[in-house]
Amino acid sequence: MKKIPFVTKEQVEEIVKTYPTPFHIYDEKGIRENAKAVKEAFAWNKGFREYFAVKATPNPYILKILKDYDFGCDCSSYTELMLAKSCGFDGEHIMFSSNETPAEEYAYANKLNAIINLDDITHIDFLEEIVGTLPETMSCRFNPGGVFELSNGIMDNPGDSKYGMTREQIVEAYKILKSKGVRKFGIHAFLASNTVTNEYYPELAAQLFELIVEIQKETGCDFDFVNLSGGVGIPYTPDKEPNDIRAIGEGVRKAYEKIIVPAGLDGLKIYAEMGRFMLGPYGALVTKAIHEKHIYKEYIGVDACAANLMRPAMYGSYHHVTVLGKENAEATEVYDVVGSLCENNDKFAIDRKLPKIDMGDYIYIHDTGAHGFAMGYHYNGRLLSAELLLQEDGSVKLIRRAETPADYFATFDCFEDIKITE
Ligand SMILES: *Cc1c(COP(=O)(O)O)cnc(C)c1O
Repeated sequence: MKKIPFVTKEQVEEIVKTYPTPFHIYDEKGIRENAKAVKEAFAWNKGFREYFAVKATPNPYILKILKDYDFGCDCSSYTELMLAKSCGFDGEHIMFSSNETPAEEYAYANKLNAIINLDDITHIDFLEEIVGTLPETMSCRFNPGGVFELSNGIMDNPGDSKYGMTREQIVEAYKILKSKGVRKFGIHAFLASNTVTNEYYPELAAQLFELIVEIQKETGCDFDFVNLSGGVGIPYTPDKEPNDIRAIGEGVRKAYEKIIVPAGLDGLKIYAEMGRFMLGPYGALVTKAIHEKHIYKEYIGVDACAANLMRPAMYGSYHHVTVLGKENAEATEVYDVVGSLCENNDKFAIDRKLPKIDMGDYIYIHDTGAHGFAMGYHYNGRLLSAELLLQEDGSVKLIRRAETPADYFATFDCFEDIKITE
């Protein structure tokens, strides 16, 4: 599908008068329409809730938009819990799906009455020691091992992943939790990442539904919810079609009617923890071409770098690039579009066919709304950019200011003998 930026060159020329490049910008209209579609797709399930994976886009303004749809937050660290709480989420609107969890984080999650999702059987004792009495509702994370396959091939490799419990362990965990007074149970699994197919959630749901029917018989545990977690993907490349959330919701419904209803477990809630699908396409990194270099290849140097968007450097991920104002120009050149880090993997695009780029052109890097800004880092003393929100009325709001050198040096502020100045 043709990828079209949600801002024009003219809009960016206005925006940079106040907020210079580089910046991440989010499309409120797109976020809201998608959130509504997710809600509608699962409206057949009375207890459905999406717990937005905070790690994807940890910005309070974004979380508050999603709160309008009665979504919750999926957190996995102390600061993510703080962020969720500060935006007014609490109790059953917070899912704490963490792993290798420090004691103080469990204590805090418990204080907020978050739903705690245990990554390992050994965490039962660990948690009990911290909180005394276990919460009434608890969840466990499942890892079936092996490979996860759909009709179009192997999607991922749970047998190689550090998360979750084996089938034997999870049954044992539910028995122990029940014996310790837990009354309502959830199950969680994340078996494949960035799946661009409508089959993933339905297949995962079917596997988890069958499993809880068995476990319910074996243990007598009452299951309150099935948490399908994240993994619903987006097409980063223009040759792929986006997932159809309605088809995904219907697929999960079919599995529910086939497995859950006949087992007499109707009333089971479906939960999700999507990050990428909720925000990915509705964010972009806007940067400016500031250098062109002709050596053995053609390079365009921009004012953003991998510190602003790590995915290409870290995973070799493709992010589509549009030269604003040249949307319909012929792609006559082949460029590497690169940032300024002293790291040769700092390349937003490699051997990319693009229209001729002139210095000062604005480069729009697509699909950075999830796991984009959030993965930012400070190598080479590079600073994190601003985040902007393109509001529904077309106006632009600053939702995180750009870092300054003072932010970078802030962790030296407790030392009397060090003062860093220009
Ligand atoms: C990362 C993560 C998510 C979100 O994953 P997406 O691929 O962004 O949807 C959800 N749940 C857990 C536990 C995660 O670690």
